[in-house]
Amino acid sequence: MSLPRICTRCILPETFPGISFDEDGVCNYCHREEKALKKSPQKKALYRDRLDELMRGLKGVAPSYDVVMAYSGGKDSSYALKLIRERYGLRILAVTFDNHFVSPMAWENITKITDSLGIDLIRFRPPWPIVKTIFRHAAAEDIFPAPTLLRASAICTACIGLIKNIVLKTALEMSIPIVAFGWSPGQAPIQSAIMKTNPAFMGQNTKVLKKAFPGEISKEMAAYFIPDSYFEEYRARFPYNVHPLAFFEYDEEAVKKDLEKMAWQVPTDTDTNSTNCLLNAFANQCHIDRHHFHPYVWEIANMVRQGIMGREEGIKKIYSGQDMAMVKYAKEKLGI
Ligand SMILES: [Zn+2]
Repeated sequence: MSLPRICTRCILPETFPGISFDEDGVCNYCHREEKALKKSPQKKALYRDRLDELMRGLKGVAPSYDVVMAYSGGKDSSYALKLIRERYGLRILAVTFDNHFVSPMAWENITKITDSLGIDLIRFRPPWPIVKTIFRHAAAEDIFPAPTLLRASAICTACIGLIKNIVLKTALEMSIPIVAFGWSPGQAPIQSAIMKTNPAFMGQNTKVLKKAFPGEISKEMAAYFIPDSYFEEYRARFPYNVHPLAFFEYDEEAVKKDLEKMAWQVPTDTDTNSTNCLLNAFANQCHIDRHHFHPYVWEIANMVRQGIMGREEGIKKIYSGQDMAMVKYAKEKLGI
């Protein structure tokens, strides 16, 4: 991808929907964030206190686990897992969604980290024919509302939607009071970093995900969605969603170094935007072809703005072009 005009402060490109630049080349999204960024250190401290209080209050109360964590084996969720385990000493159940594209090195990392932290792991693996159908459908067209696609590709959104449903379903069925995610500080805003889930809202999310697929596919996926009856039946059990990396210290290199102490290795078999998924490069390429901006640019621009990532590093991540060998690998596997 050749370098388009980009914001001189973050790295959002001129092709990003709704963007405009001032005379210094700074984008309207940067200006919109200025106030919030100033208050960010105090806000992060407040959220750390809130999480400490929440975790202390819920520790050991549930019959089985305190936390169910969506665990991909990538650096962010590995780091979040370590943080929660070591800071609070909670009983954690990690759930890995096997989308048939988890890299072999990521699997090694998953076993090393869960063994080293003493965490139970469930590997949830739907059979290949249905996974293939889901991804082929998401590759062929944008199946989600436009605002969703500002932040991620249709393929990633489909996969993450399923993961969210599966972990929430697990939390409800096992009475687990906290669901944790390893979203990077650029991926999800601090405002949603500690949030009690609400049956009506979660029901709406599930509906959107179901509706993204044609009836016959969605019927085959039925077991992965939260059944309608749960929203009433388990009303009192709806857990807290937390994503702690939004408000704890986060430095990509420091995170990697910290994980390497537990024998986690930076995968050499994935593309530069992912430390676990072999489908990612193709998902990005589909998105770039259709929308003319990189699906990770929102996340990376946020991190550059927050000073968590250097601007040059961000530009390299987003504008170096896709690894075409990885794109080809995924296309062939999906028969596209
Ligand atoms: Zn900007």
